[in-house]
Amino acid sequence: MVISAPSGGGKTVVRSALMKLDKRFAFSVTCTTRPKRPGEADGKDYYFVTAEQFAKLRKEGKLLEWALVHGNYYGTPVKSVLDVLGKGRIPLMTIDVKGARSVKKIFPEAVTVFLLPPDLKTLVQRLRGRGEAPENVSVRLETARSEIKVASSFDYLVINDKLPEAVREVAAIADLETHKTGRNLEKVKAFGEQLSKKRVF
Ligand code: 5GP
Repeated sequence: MVISAPSGGGKTVVRSALMKLDKRFAFSVTCTTRPKRPGEADGKDYYFVTAEQFAKLRKEGKLLEWALVHGNYYGTPVKSVLDVLGKGRIPLMTIDVKGARSVKKIFPEAVTVFLLPPDLKTLVQRLRGRGEAPENVSVRLETARSEIKVASSFDYLVINDKLPEAVREVAAIADLETHKTGRNLEKVKAFGEQLSKKRVF
């Protein structure tokens, strides 16, 4: 499941709350060349890498997708996603809009969710509230303008007004998606095989 939003849209907060609420999800850690912020931990929030290390990962085909966001490189290691899938859990990716579209192209079965703040005032408040410098707020609002234009290409839209509600809605999307027939054909096939082997009556 891929969650995108304009910067300040609440991806990180929704992600943490969702992982607490619903143990099916596991965060697939991405890598970045941006400096660590206070309170962030390497390997938990991001793999913090140098520009050289990032270029090497890209060159070696180890990134599922990558993007240049606000002057820093970000990328999803293929391994992060495969590790989570291997544990039978849902990889939760909170990446930028371009990255989400790349993932959907490579993995059409990925579910993309666009988180939208209830209104512009709330978005500005959230950006200021997390201590972004005024010039950064303007840059991020400018980026939001183009990010919002592609919201219609996402599978689902969730308005992130009240956090618990938004989180429940994302979990509900996962509930629905896991019941899609196309994701459960193995179960139908297995049942069909049992039926054809056994004379029940
Ligand atoms: P921040 O620096 O605020 O943590 O993240 C900036 C933006 O980069 C956010 O929109 C975040 O979701 C996005 N991002 C984080 N990791 C990745 C990644 O691996 N790929 C892409 N495409 N975007 C990412």
